Amino acid sequence: MEKRVNHIKQQLSAHGYKLTPQREATVRVLLENEEAHLSAEDVYLLVKEKAPEIGLATVYRTLELLSDLQIIHKLNFGDGVTRYEFRAEGAEHHHHHLICLNCGTVDEIMEDLLGPIEHRVETEFDFQIVDHRLTFHGVCHRCKDQVTDPKKLVGSRVT
Ligand SMILES: [Zn+2]
Ligand SMILES: [Zn+2]
Ligand SMILES: [Zn+2]
Repeated sequence: MEKRVNHIKQQLSAHGYKLTPQREATVRVLLENEEAHLSAEDVYLLVKEKAPEIGLATVYRTLELLSDLQIIHKLNFGDGVTRYEFRAEGAEHHHHHLICLNCGTVDEIMEDLLGPIEHRVETEFDFQIVDHRLTFHGVCHRCKDQVTDPKKLVGSRVT
């Protein structure tokens, strides 16, 4: 944890920014909830527990700064809420998400499964791929026994 906070501190200072106590509180909340895909509001509520004086605008600006510097990713799961997560260190492309339409859980596939598709896009469309987002919508393994007709869940998303 300290190592990662330090690393982010270095990334910020490389761009002329300081890791202020407010920024640090935000970074720590993101690190502690790494797999949670938090919205700005979620981050704010958690940061407030550590630093009650902090405002939503400050948290929001910090999230914008971190995503401008590509330290975190913005995610859009189609529910109108922007969520944030860390850019996996060393991973070339973004991992894939599995969103359960029944319980709203977001699972992750950390392996890049798109290799063969990327190759086709690059050759057939002469397009150089830098990154991609892939989200699957369906029913997770936890819910599969309670859902009889998965197609009925489309459009009635639990978020
Ligand atoms: Zn890829
Ligand atoms: Zn589920
Ligand atoms: Zn993710």
